Amino acid sequence: MGDNVTLTEEHLALRESVRDFTQREVVPIADHLDSQAKEIPMEVIRKMAELGYFGLTLPEEYGGSAMDHTCLAIMTEELSRGWLSVGSVGTRLLIASTLILAHGTEEQKKKYLPRIASGACLTAAAFTEPDVGSDTASVALRAEKVAGNWKLTGAKSWCTMANRAHMLTVLAKTNPEAPKKHDSLSILLVDKEPGDGFVPPTMAGDYIPAIGYHGLKSWNVMFEDHLVPEDAVLGGVTGKGFRQLMVTYESARIQTAARAVGVAQASFDAALRYSKERFQFGKAISEFQIIKHKLAHMATEIEAARQLTYHAARAKDSGRRADLEAGMAKAFAADMAERVTSEALQIYGGYGYSKEYPVQRYWRDGRLFKVFEGTSEIQYEVIAKRLLSGE
Ligand SMILES: Cc1cc2nc3c(=O)[nH]c(=O)nc-3n(C[C@H](O)[C@H](O)[C@H](O)COP(=O)(O)OP(=O)(O)OC[C@H]3O[C@@H](n4cnc5c(N)ncnc54)[C@H](O)[C@@H]3O)c2cc1C
Repeated sequence: MGDNVTLTEEHLALRESVRDFTQREVVPIADHLDSQAKEIPMEVIRKMAELGYFGLTLPEEYGGSAMDHTCLAIMTEELSRGWLSVGSVGTRLLIASTLILAHGTEEQKKKYLPRIASGACLTAAAFTEPDVGSDTASVALRAEKVAGNWKLTGAKSWCTMANRAHMLTVLAKTNPEAPKKHDSLSILLVDKEPGDGFVPPTMAGDYIPAIGYHGLKSWNVMFEDHLVPEDAVLGGVTGKGFRQLMVTYESARIQTAARAVGVAQASFDAALRYSKERFQFGKAISEFQIIKHKLAHMATEIEAARQLTYHAARAKDSGRRADLEAGMAKAFAADMAERVTSEALQIYGGYGYSKEYPVQRYWRDGRLFKVFEGTSEIQYEVIAKRLLSGE
């Protein structure tokens, strides 16, 4: 599955090489580390960087490979098939690099993009707050101008990989006087020391224990009078943060749809294999029509999500607005991943609920897609708005 007449030699070669990397470096460690809620080894992240996975779509002048978004989807699907956490390292780097490429000053592009592409600068996205999730424009973390610096005060939540990041893209309120809340925000590129935790006293973090996604830790990050230089504002202009963020939605949602396809495909592969090995009533359970049809439905849904993702990737590469296609791909793939991973667990029966098989990991990870990168409710709201507007 996944072969497509529209895929080029470059796409197919990339798929083979990332699949090979995943089999060698990711599959052997995923279950063991996930079951102990341990982070991805830095060595694996370094190898991904060396293979150019973090600069795949960035222009060559900034150290990237200038590949298309279908390549991004293919690479992400294959990595996520091994372990969602590994397929998700690049998401925050994609968000930061997309923001900087589209809106950064030339100095910011030169400072960050080559280092993001080479893996020398890991990044994390600090948008969500304890009291602000879907309603992004209501972000409250305050950034005040103080003697040539910005002083940050407030809290962010669910900041994934914030500990290991060298730089956080922080959405902050810089212009509280703006008549519209959408014009009150800016994105600040906040450098920090990478490590297991944070450097107190002005930045501190608490790890948020989660039911899955264990290879990456998500954090509450507290800023208390934390100073960052004046030129840390993305693009050097304040009040544009909310709108700047919109550019990330297309690429990041295409990538998130691909992550969902990867996790679902892994669960399908496992269920297909198991259904041929598990015997009940004297035959392999794959011979029961209801199991056969489950498998057929699962494979069909995965392929539909994959093709929607490729379609969104092509729309993005055409240079036209692709938010509708990306939103549809993400929303459909998220629903699909929840259903497919649940059916995969069902095919395993009681063993599916045990920790002995990775199918429970796919199910836990597969549930996440409806929650992050825009909840499904918000996704369908955005899709409907666009359809009703007739744009
Ligand atoms: C594992 C994990 C990793 C994450 N990583 C990051 C990260 O790296 N950086 C980051 O900034 N954030 C991250 N997030 C946060 C994530 O983006 C938010 O959880 C998400 O945006 C939803 O926000 P919320 O949790 O505050 O839910 P809320 O916005 O409070 O929503 C609660 C419920 O209400 C529904 N709802 C809200 N508004 C509407 C509406 N207008 N119409 C209909 N329904 C509505 C939602 O769909 C949802 O079902 C992560 C989350 C998780 C779980």
